[in-house]
This record gives sequence, structure tokens and C-alpha cells, in this order.
Amino acid sequence: MMFRLLMVICLLLGSFQAQSRAIEGKQDIFGKSSEEIDNSTEQDEKSVSAIIERANRHAGQGLNDPPVMFGDIAVNAVATGLEIADPCTTRVCKWQRNKSGKVLVPYVISNEYSSQEKDVIFQGLRSFEESTCVRFMPRTNQRDYINIKSNSGCYSFVGRRIGGQTVSLDRRGCMSLNIVQHELLHTLGFHHEHNRSDRDNHVQILFKNIIPGQEYNFDKIKTNNLETAYDYSSVMHYGRFAFSKNREPTIIPIPDSNMFIGQAEKMSSNDILRINTLYCSMS
Ligand SMILES: [Zn+2]
Repeated sequence: MMFRLLMVICLLLGSFQAQSRAIEGKQDIFGKSSEEIDNSTEQDEKSVSAIIERANRHAGQGLNDPPVMFGDIAVNAVATGLEIADPCTTRVCKWQRNKSGKVLVPYVISNEYSSQEKDVIFQGLRSFEESTCVRFMPRTNQRDYINIKSNSGCYSFVGRRIGGQTVSLDRRGCMSLNIVQHELLHTLGFHHEHNRSDRDNHVQILFKNIIPGQEYNFDKIKTNNLETAYDYSSVMHYGRFAFSKNREPTIIPIPDSNMFIGQAEKMSSNDILRINTLYCSMS
């Protein structure tokens, strides 16, 4: 009973802190001044989701591509939609932690990338080492691993798959740190922020502005939020005009509609906290 009460208090505190940060944070939520960013469609062109939308026009249609849903989430050929709704809390889709407390994720990387492109990808892989227990390591003979290659578009499965899985980082459009981190966060089991189970408390979805047939990209998913606050500055947050049919917003933050969303250039402190909570805490 006491534990439950404590949990509720922590959740409320976390949410309150996020709100206060959000309200006071227009100047610095992305480390930039408000003169440098705005909420225009032009600015939104640089958002993670706009980059992915551009790169993924043909995602899931190539011979080597699995079907892609939610913009950039790969699913099995016979996906029902239900399987990706499972929160990644079970041992089944989490990557395993070794005895020394590190979570090793073996990777193979295609040799089609230039050294410059590899630099961007390696920067993304290494960025997890700075603040989490996750270590992307070259694969030797491990059964489960990620296969980084330049298929059509930027996409990843959510969580670990048995026997290897593709992370597509298309040379034409996915070569930036925020996109690499975004896809790797899917690989680690994380969903988009605007699909969170509690998103209705933080954003309003304007279905009338969404491209017909793309509404499912805004479905709520039964996510495990790991007791972390909703985060407008998450690299997993889509932009204000994601899947818009008319250049009108599809996602509006509430209560302050002027908040910046989807413009993260790298993982936020909340993104890092979630990795640590899901994988690295020793409790
Ligand atoms: Zn995504």
C-alpha cells in the first residue's frame, strides 16, 4: 500500500516537473534560443519525423524490406498490429545484460556506406556508451544481432528479434545523428512518444488534418512509460506536421500549443533515463 502511494507521488512529481520544464522551457528545451527555432512548416521540415517521412516514401516496398508501420517501425509479414503494441518489458524483446552489467547489442554494418556515412552511424552507436550500459559491439557469432544496411528508408523493429534483424539507415536520407539514435531506440524497445498510452494528457491529435489512410500512425499504444514524464524534446517525438495532408498541424501540445515538438537533434535526458531504467538499473 505504502509502495503504491509512493509510486503515485513519484509519478505526479515527475509529471509536474515535466510540465514546469515545458512551460518555462521555450528558450532552452532544445538548447537553442526561440529565435533559432519556430513552429513553422519550414522549421518542421528538419524534424525527425519529416526526415523519416521523406526518406520512407518507398519503405516497406522493396524486395528486401519488411512491411513498415507507424512511419518507420518494421513488422513481421503477418503483423496484426497487436504484436507491436506489446510493451517491451518482457525478457523476450529486451536485449540481455551480461554479468558485468553491460547490455551488449552485436551489430553487422554493410560495406556500402562511405567512411563519412559510417562516421555518422558509429557516432550514433557510440553515443549510447556515454550515459548508459548499452554497448553496440561488432558481431562475432551471436545469434541475435542488428544488421545495419541501406535499404529503402529509415526503419527498425521494436525490441530484439531472434536470429538477427535489419536496421535500415538509407544512405539517401537517414544519415544524421538524431535518426540513427531514433532507430536504435526502436531496436532497444522504445516506441514513438506521441503514441504513448498517456499522450492525450500532453498532445492533441488533429485527425482532420492527417493524410487519409495514415491515421493509424497516431494510434495510442499500451506502452510501458517506465515512470518517466512525457517528453516533447524526446528524439522519439514526431513533429507538429507529421503526416499532414494540408500543411496544417496534426499534433498540438497541450496546454501550451506553442511548445516545440519533434525537433530534437539528439537523445534527450529523458530518452537516456528510459534506457537506464529499462536496462541498466541493478534493482
Ligand atoms: Zn520511429
